[in-house]
Amino acid sequence: MTTLTRADWEQRAKNLKIEGRALIHGELCEAVSAATFECVSPVDGRLLGLVASCDAADAELAVADARATFESGVWSRLKPVERKKIMVRFADLMDAHAEELALLETLDMGKPISDALSVDVPGASRAIRWSGEAIDKIYDEVAATPHDELGLITREPVGVVAAIVPWNFPLIMTCWKLGPALSTGNSVIVKPSEKSPLTAIRLAQLALEAGIPAGVLNVLPGFGHTVGKALALHMDVDTLVFTGSTKIAKQLMIYAGESNMKRVWLEAGGKSANIVFADAPCLKAAAEAAAAAICFNQGEMCTAGSRLLIERSVKDEFMALLLEAMKGWKAGHALDPATNVGALVDSGHLNSVLSYIEAGHAENAKLLCGGKRTLEETGGVYVEPTIFDNVTNSMRIAAEEIFGPVLSVITFDTTEEAIQIANDSIYGLAAAIWTSNLSKAHLAAKALRVGSMWVNQYDGGDMTAPFGGYKQSGNGRDKSLHAFDKYTELKATWIKL
Ligand code: NAD
Ligand code: MN
Repeated sequence: MTTLTRADWEQRAKNLKIEGRALIHGELCEAVSAATFECVSPVDGRLLGLVASCDAADAELAVADARATFESGVWSRLKPVERKKIMVRFADLMDAHAEELALLETLDMGKPISDALSVDVPGASRAIRWSGEAIDKIYDEVAATPHDELGLITREPVGVVAAIVPWNFPLIMTCWKLGPALSTGNSVIVKPSEKSPLTAIRLAQLALEAGIPAGVLNVLPGFGHTVGKALALHMDVDTLVFTGSTKIAKQLMIYAGESNMKRVWLEAGGKSANIVFADAPCLKAAAEAAAAAICFNQGEMCTAGSRLLIERSVKDEFMALLLEAMKGWKAGHALDPATNVGALVDSGHLNSVLSYIEAGHAENAKLLCGGKRTLEETGGVYVEPTIFDNVTNSMRIAAEEIFGPVLSVITFDTTEEAIQIANDSIYGLAAAIWTSNLSKAHLAAKALRVGSMWVNQYDGGDMTAPFGGYKQSGNGRDKSLHAFDKYTELKATWIKL
């Protein structure tokens, strides 16, 4: 928790340098076309600045530069221990600039400043540090070869990586990619979301300052259908890593098939079930976690606990506890350190969230709290945390990802029914179960088709564990040593002695 007040943050915001240019080979530059777009803060509607609107011409320059840098060996052939030192220095610099990075993140995408400072910046620097520290501790393999032969199984960097990232955790999502991609020696081009380009540009400057050579980390701000598409279709990008919506993820697979069959790793959407059984160890703790699971980061969470499945016999008791817990989650000005629900990312997204609230009414779900836009006098884009009861799993508010603080409550009677409902989704990112019964917990955890499974908690995890989805939530995993697989090719070298 910061000791700075809202007035302090406002003062810093006034003095904050906003850098909106692209960064190629260590140099800040305008887009080739000189086009820009406006970066407007959802916190209060202020214009933060103009940002370079890159397109295919910029992608051409950045990919050529990343390739040349990779081939030069200045980073790709550096000793792992040296890469480690620089990655750790990069993480240290992020921590040293925590307040600046947090403020940029909050102004750009609306999350509460306290979260940006306590969650986003430390989470991002940890991803860089953890991956960097690992790189001189990983060994390759020797096959079980005959006496007169030697089989080596080695990992090599893929070469040029394009990383297309979303706006909900701009720093963390970028660093989940950069940590393993840079540590393994690749050259990377980051395409931040047009809704949150600022921290990626600042990060790349800090990377340079830490000693990551020019050309190893290039940043191209701009739109998905222009520069994002150009990178995805590029014949000289070896690997494309993505976090974002399922719709765009599918499109990227098509682009890869239409171009050079680049490897495509996708972290996409979710509609996660939070299942509370009558034998939960503590209903109050479950209710508090359920509120956090839909309110944290304004519900703009791929892992949001957006479907609450509650066992009928404890429903009344649980719902009273949940409504009580929701009183602790209130939309507030994002620069106020006491705020825990900030602004939605922009007015387009606000309209999308409000249209889902209308859909809930239209399908006769029962509104229990929230349901309206709020704090309009700030000039910002805020919505009240919202709960719908009497939801069935086929309603749009239960089937589609809303990506806002809108919870759908579904009632069940048996364990089998709960698992069937939870799995009845195109998504498979995460799920939680609350029970005191050990066998039930393990059996349900096995039955749920998701990449992250929580028991008697919501949203646990760390760099030490892989993160990613089943089904249309994606493929591949971020975090942990498993993530390194995405950024390396496996080579078998067979030697006759
Ligand atoms: P989005 O798919 O709209 O955009 C993601 C990125 O893709 C942006 O940088 C965008 O500019 C780019 N893009 C858009 N169209 C493109 C195209 N045709 N070609 C290339 N690039 C293109 O998603 P979003 O709205 O930024 O983020 C929200 C989504 O991200 C949600 O669905 C959420 O679940 C998902 N998400 C998933 C995870 C995860 O780890 N699974 C984490 C965070 C967010
Ligand atoms: Mn923005």
